[in-house]
Amino acid sequence: MKHTTSSAATDEGADPARRIGSVRGGEPGPLILCIASLHGNEPAGTVALKRVLDELSGSGLPMRGDLVGLRGNLPALEAGTRFIDEDLNRIWQRERVATVLESLRPGGAAREGAGLPMVGSAELAEQRDLLAAIQEESRRARGPIYVLDLHTTSSDSAPFTTLGDTLQSRELALLLPVPMVLGLEEQIDGAMHQYFDRLGWRSIGIEGGQHAAALSIEAHEDAVWILLEAIGLIEAGSRSGPEDRRARLARRAEGLPRVLAVRYRHVVSEDDDFRMRAGFRNFDLVRAGDELGTDRSGPVRAELGGRVFLPLYQRQGDDGFFIARRLAPAWLTVSRILRGVGADRVAVWLPGIHPHPDREDAVLVARWARNRYVIGLLHLLGFRARNESGGGVMVRRVEEPDPEPESSFAEG
Ligand SMILES: [Zn+2]
Repeated sequence: MKHTTSSAATDEGADPARRIGSVRGGEPGPLILCIASLHGNEPAGTVALKRVLDELSGSGLPMRGDLVGLRGNLPALEAGTRFIDEDLNRIWQRERVATVLESLRPGGAAREGAGLPMVGSAELAEQRDLLAAIQEESRRARGPIYVLDLHTTSSDSAPFTTLGDTLQSRELALLLPVPMVLGLEEQIDGAMHQYFDRLGWRSIGIEGGQHAAALSIEAHEDAVWILLEAIGLIEAGSRSGPEDRRARLARRAEGLPRVLAVRYRHVVSEDDDFRMRAGFRNFDLVRAGDELGTDRSGPVRAELGGRVFLPLYQRQGDDGFFIARRLAPAWLTVSRILRGVGADRVAVWLPGIHPHPDREDAVLVARWARNRYVIGLLHLLGFRARNESGGGVMVRRVEEPDPEPESSFAEG
């Protein structure tokens, strides 16, 4: 390899099967930690990261900070299936992660599996191993940490991002010229990025397109290059041309809203025998009442109009489809201002909203107050619904962490 003074490929850290590769910059700066193939039938992210890391380490571009690529679910990747025993992107609940972390501490191995619901599952071992690798990378970080979780979809799709609704993750998502989809974390429990949000890291999921499409690999490559530049690891306008990549990625999402919010989830179980009607592309417009698929009790219709989101065209998975709706970007500004002035702390002054008896980060919403206006207002203030205590519990998103010490990688 040449030009190792500027940036160098390293193979320290996680085991070679887990590690796609890494490039350590000549100067300190942010860590971009990329995780690919958390679902084993989604190899595109792994291929893309390998290409970016190879090109970056061979380019000799001066770099401030570090880029690391990790594979998510190794046995499922080998088998070409979404998962082996349980979905690795649905098991990052606070309590579970705490238990797994406990087992990683010195002397913790004896307690391994204690209190965990899926002892012996392939994904428990993967989660443990992945957490160990992530911990190690975070210790080596020389600046703020960004996490990119690379996925693909079973349907044909334009690229888009998913995220927990923290302001700093929104800012990260908005660096990419593709739709940003909010509110998925309210519909599904235990996605990995929820764990990173709690750590105060900036974290987004990047969906590149259909699982097997070559364009999905290209979209992931483009996204990582664009973010390398936008976050400041490489100089603006450097050789790998993020500008062309930005235009190319933007073209893939042409005509789609900039921001969408998930409004509805159609849950399926194996017994339902759910079949999505063929031919839906992610983000296709549907009207209330449109037939979207069938299950054992007959046609399954859209409960509300909007854009069909993540239609299920694979065997494994609990989500038949979602409906998402365009969100006017102005709402993002409103909610940023409200949270910026600490308005979330006055939520309990609103009629029908009470402090939670046990949790400082949660409020209870009286049954009579559970209408779309109150819930919408709480969303703006950063609260999200939790399925506990019989409903009516809204939990405040992780506090926006203290601003990181200003890093010196900015221009000049
Ligand atoms: Zn996935």
